[in-house]
Amino acid sequence: MGRIHNFSAGPAVLPQEVLEQARDEMLDYRGSGMSVMEMSHRSKEYLAIIEGAEQLVRELMGVPANYKILFQQGGATLQFAMVPMNLLTRPDQIADYILTGSWSKKAAKEAKLFTSGVRHPASSEKVNFTRIPRQEELQLTPDAAYVHMTSNNTIFGTEYFYTPATGNVPLVADMSSNILSRPVDVSLFGLIYAGAQKNLGPSGVTLVIVREDLLGRKGGLPSMLDYKVQVENQSMLNTPPTYAIYILGLVLQWVKKQGGVAAIEGRNMRKAARLYDAIDQSGFYLCPTEKESRSRMNVPFTLAKAELTDTFLAEAKKAGLVSLKGHRSVGGMRASIYNAMPESGVDALIAFMRDFQARHG
Ligand SMILES: *Cc1c(COP(=O)(O)O)cnc(C)c1O
Repeated sequence: MGRIHNFSAGPAVLPQEVLEQARDEMLDYRGSGMSVMEMSHRSKEYLAIIEGAEQLVRELMGVPANYKILFQQGGATLQFAMVPMNLLTRPDQIADYILTGSWSKKAAKEAKLFTSGVRHPASSEKVNFTRIPRQEELQLTPDAAYVHMTSNNTIFGTEYFYTPATGNVPLVADMSSNILSRPVDVSLFGLIYAGAQKNLGPSGVTLVIVREDLLGRKGGLPSMLDYKVQVENQSMLNTPPTYAIYILGLVLQWVKKQGGVAAIEGRNMRKAARLYDAIDQSGFYLCPTEKESRSRMNVPFTLAKAELTDTFLAEAKKAGLVSLKGHRSVGGMRASIYNAMPESGVDALIAFMRDFQARHG
């Protein structure tokens, strides 16, 4: 069996061209006589890799000069703790967390370790996180240390299509599951973080983009957990996840070759529109999310005949369409269609869904 269509929510599909290039460079990276995995992180070759990756993040996302770029370990989950640890200076300081799903709840839970002042300007929990609160629903705290949002809700399949206006309060975004899927204006954020394993590369590295004035607010932190120390050491306070950063760099080069983030967005819009239309028009499949909030990255759907769910998943797998099982809190199916999912993968899924309906509908 060759490559299948992988709809996993993460770690997720990578561009085939990237895997092929990594294969070709595996034993001898560009005449160095060794694999990137075997290379000193202080070597000239490796410095070119990490600096090249940083430069491409800056270029592709249009990161302004007063922002620093970090490659961290510990996943997005460590950022749930590093953000409050670094940005809060008092144990009662207000931190606003907009609740739009499990990941924002987990982020807020970590913040509560550092302040008694965690507030929720809005929550869509009452409607099982099927929608994103509008700007006018947000009850923001004017003197909060920051506002935290989850820009795409991987589990529930919702996404912000506006950037919350937070005045002078820095906006912090967990962009793990939609980073580089569409253009964002980085200057509207104080800090952005994203675990790599959805849209950027393999697990083991987390991208952080932080505005300079947010560095060094809090002293006395362990070095590894202090953004300022990490910036001063250019993400190399200790040995960074060298191979993961190398693959991330290849993914960024691939994004650039596709025409950049705007071109990727166009493709993502087509993929998502085709899949949601197929669901809505079927009378057989249902999508639980509000239309205006629907994620372009993670598409949850259920069957009107819920008892067919296991059959659907088993037959899909036989057809080479894998990891379509929905998260247990939503049920049914979830198709994650990140940047690296080709349009042909989405078309194959839609064709399978129509066929399945014809046989079981
Ligand atoms: C996957 C995911 C996380 C968790 O990422 P880790 O790197 O496993 O810690 C956090 N937030 C969002 C939005 C995610 O999709």
